[in-house]
Amino acid sequence: MPCCDVINRGAALFGNLVIFATLDAQLVALNQDTGKVAWKEKLEDYAAGYSASAAPIIAKGKLITGVSGGEFGVVGRIDARDPMTGKLLWTRPTVEGHMGYTFDAAGNKVENGISGTLNATWPGDLWKTGGAATWNGATYDPETNLIYAGTGNPAPWNSHNRPGDNLFSSSTVAIDADTGKIVWHFQNTPHDGWDYDGVNEFVSFDYKDPKTGKVVKAGGKADRNGFFFVNDRTNGKLLNVFPFVKQITWAKGYDLKTARPIYDDSNRPGDPAQSADGKKGSVVTSAPSFLGGKNQMQMAYSPQTGLFYVPSNEWAMDIWNEPVSYKKGAAYLGAGFTIKATHDDYIGALRAYDPATGKMVWENKNYAPLWGGVLTTAGGLVFYGTPEGFLKGVDAKTGKELWSFNVGTGIVAPPISWEQDGEQMIAVTTGWGGAVPLWGGDVAKRVNYLEQGGSVWVFKLHKQL
Ligand code: CA
Repeated sequence: MPCCDVINRGAALFGNLVIFATLDAQLVALNQDTGKVAWKEKLEDYAAGYSASAAPIIAKGKLITGVSGGEFGVVGRIDARDPMTGKLLWTRPTVEGHMGYTFDAAGNKVENGISGTLNATWPGDLWKTGGAATWNGATYDPETNLIYAGTGNPAPWNSHNRPGDNLFSSSTVAIDADTGKIVWHFQNTPHDGWDYDGVNEFVSFDYKDPKTGKVVKAGGKADRNGFFFVNDRTNGKLLNVFPFVKQITWAKGYDLKTARPIYDDSNRPGDPAQSADGKKGSVVTSAPSFLGGKNQMQMAYSPQTGLFYVPSNEWAMDIWNEPVSYKKGAAYLGAGFTIKATHDDYIGALRAYDPATGKMVWENKNYAPLWGGVLTTAGGLVFYGTPEGFLKGVDAKTGKELWSFNVGTGIVAPPISWEQDGEQMIAVTTGWGGAVPLWGGDVAKRVNYLEQGGSVWVFKLHKQL
């Protein structure tokens, strides 16, 4: 029973194989010429709330996968496998206290060190069902040989049940591709109480530090919690942080020196144990909503302009806590919520940011929430789709719309580009669905006219554009 619709975020290609994960937590490799199953492996037990939605990636010849199910108290992790056989090479849990393993040629488990320190940031046995699901997969940087995994919410949502930072939830975790060990981590939302899954992709880029003039090996992440983080991708040091949405209520700011948020304690949903009947804690209105300043849809970075193109959303939520205890396979939230728009005329906004200064260079607002990824090209263009069905091509420097085409159904996938017979092609998979219509409350009602559908569109990029 996955939390957030019947979805799949893509496949990896390796050798002659097409490799993808399934909602019942399996991995399947197909022969690319025949479609025949080359191998199939179970990731985890779906009856315990595990599912798999992330696109696998290939890192230094290894198949890298995550797991989904943070709303069911699963234990997040990143696995590395032999892509030709599906056999495990190493596994690295993303909840502090769990043992990592490598696997020998016979498939035997060999202990490879605990992630973090047992009970350092989790009281009692709560780490055993701690969440931090890696449901949006990972990115890989060959220069540092690090796999960067974003991790989801700590379980349950009710933060009063689990005092502490609850590592490595709502974080970026950098894992050595060879050893499967955590090299560094950066927690974007310590002690998350708003379901601000930090699964957002960590995008490698190099930039010139405005103060020292030195080129820095960095990574950018537009987090669901509304802040854009720039970290040194070799060691995780926080280099810059700035809001990329207009309203953030849970923190008054982010302290660059301590690399921690400055919490507004009055905006943490209340403890149900403190309420008169013990059943519902005080309700707070928080922004961003848990659907995030940005969610699963990937931003893009252009080395030409030095800008990140961030598909962002402006919305808020009423959120409260309820008592909850873990039961295998059942939802493990201890929270209720209603999502609301904060503006009449738009929710989505594609925004171009300079990561060195935090300055917004341009924005294109959109009535419906943006839920699809972004592509930028060496030709100085940015492409993105909208739930209203428009695939748009805009100028990377100014955001000026140069072209658009309505495909008739919503778009929640990233466009892609390739060269074929000397021509540049742009393609996008279309169809509306996912978390917004399921969990969007007032916002779901606002966009309930959108068409679902499901097709692949391919365009040729004419030279005059
Ligand atoms: Ca979550």
